[in-house]
Amino acid sequence: MAAASACGGAGCGPHCSSSSGSAAGAEEDAPAERMARLSIATGAATTCGKCDGGAPTVAASGGAGMCRECFRAHLFGKFKLAVTSNAMVRPTDAVLLALSGGPASRVALQFIHAMQSKAIQSWETSNSQALPAFGVGVAFVDESVVLARPEHETQTATEDIKSIVSSLSPGDKQVHVAPLEDVFSSGSEDKVARLKEVVGMIDDETGRDDFIRCLRMLSLQKIALENGYTKIMLGTCASGIACHVLSATVKGQGYSLPADVQYVDTRWEVPVVLPLHDCLAQELSLLCELDSLKMQQLLDRPCRGINSLVASFVSRLREENPSREHTILRTAQKLKPFSFNKFSANGYHDFLPSRLRPKFQNVDTNESTFSEILCLICGSPFSESELQNLENTKHKAQKKIDLYTAHCCQSCHFQILPSATDTYGQFFSLLPKFWTEKVDTASASSLRDQIEDYLLEDDDEN
Ligand SMILES: [Zn+2]
Ligand SMILES: [Zn+2]
Repeated sequence: MAAASACGGAGCGPHCSSSSGSAAGAEEDAPAERMARLSIATGAATTCGKCDGGAPTVAASGGAGMCRECFRAHLFGKFKLAVTSNAMVRPTDAVLLALSGGPASRVALQFIHAMQSKAIQSWETSNSQALPAFGVGVAFVDESVVLARPEHETQTATEDIKSIVSSLSPGDKQVHVAPLEDVFSSGSEDKVARLKEVVGMIDDETGRDDFIRCLRMLSLQKIALENGYTKIMLGTCASGIACHVLSATVKGQGYSLPADVQYVDTRWEVPVVLPLHDCLAQELSLLCELDSLKMQQLLDRPCRGINSLVASFVSRLREENPSREHTILRTAQKLKPFSFNKFSANGYHDFLPSRLRPKFQNVDTNESTFSEILCLICGSPFSESELQNLENTKHKAQKKIDLYTAHCCQSCHFQILPSATDTYGQFFSLLPKFWTEKVDTASASSLRDQIEDYLLEDDDEN
């Protein structure tokens, strides 16, 4: 049976892999039926509740009916507010949008293009007196290898993505297609075999799913770093985050959960932003239908294990009450974010409206400070007990493998590390160097600290 989609079929970007042929029920309907369910009942309002004009009305999340123009403006308004009030994009930025081919990231592309066009326009009309326009590029992580997708399908999909992006002007947008196995940057070695072997060593189905997500983030980081992008924009929407809230809870990731439900995440080398944070998957799908935005559903990747169970559960909740996803999100947002969940004042003040400036001051007592130790694999911040364990390990025998395992969070321990501990050595040797290197350098510098008193300084010889 096909797994349910993580976001109501909207494919909220590379973090969410939705399946249009999902078993979740609601997603299997024909577009017309879906429209009917989203549109307000016939016989109710016949005009748009916002502009009193407009023909076919649609009901946005629990609100009044809107015409197409108002509906689009409503969603764009949410996107723009998220971007500006969190200082997601500076005029000097180059933004890398992760396009999955699904409705959510497709809408994100459309919206960021609209913002860029406007910036280009005002730059041109002001004779270069205004702020320069930010750059936009598009990344697509090709996971064909783990999905065993036929090569010609991938080819068609990639061509489609390129044609979608090239249709958006002004503003040249480069498209970067990166095979997932490229995160294993190695010379002669077979990257595909290495990817398959390491994924094969993970016994747990959910663990495999999560592991591939981690690789996907690494892949995006790699594309961004190699091509000079300063921000990564994901199409993760409210529905996708709601699913993540529940699945993270089930997986025992409560401590690090607040880090994943914010608008901004600067714990990665290239910061990640989620401008569709407040939009529902259904709204985004509807907009794609209304505006005939071309998508590429061939690329859909069903999620598995707990992730899939939670996705069907959330879609059930949505059928009962469409505002449930917002409720889950609001509840999770009461948790204290981490200090890396916003941009610091540095370099942002100049571009911010003065009313927003206090938000970006460094002193904020309402957030958790963190130890700066992140899980080697998933990037979760370490909890008190995980830190304690790491400290203890550091002071014991210096076996590399023990250090690696101590740098993995509890959840990765249970779900991603192989169950046979004697295979750890093999497992860690297969992981992308980008992950293990961090531990190597950290342990080298801590060893240096420990023996520092005994080291001879250069001029001691005389
Ligand atoms: Zn209207
Ligand atoms: Zn982890």
